[in-house]
Amino acid sequence: MAPAAATASARAIIDSVHEMSVAAAMIEAAQAESAQRGARVVAAGLQIGEMSGVDTESPRFCCDALVQDTDLAPLALEIEFLPWRNRRHRCAGEFAVVDYRTECPQCGAADTELASGKELECAYLAMEEP
Ligand SMILES: [Zn+2]
Repeated sequence: MAPAAATASARAIIDSVHEMSVAAAMIEAAQAESAQRGARVVAAGLQIGEMSGVDTESPRFCCDALVQDTDLAPLALEIEFLPWRNRRHRCAGEFAVVDYRTECPQCGAADTELASGKELECAYLAMEEP
């Protein structure tokens, strides 16, 4: 059989696996932190860059599902969306990339580089007050 393009539902499953693994990694970090400090993690911050390929709502649902019935529940997950920004070489500074236009909006230079937007990281873990 000839290979066929993945259907939208197949792609959605792969996408949710990615988001599920992001949520699972966050929870693993929270569990390790709780164990190390002997206090429960009550909130976690997750930074998601526009170019990370992870959408900003799914990790929340995945996280809720994963902490259910664990001693981390309820865990408040705060998601910070970081838009795609590029840095200029010639005139210095940063600008927001809109519609994939990466040239400098001021001088038109094409030699700009990624400044932010690829983040996919844990920004903080907040502990329960003793
Ligand atoms: Zn410029």
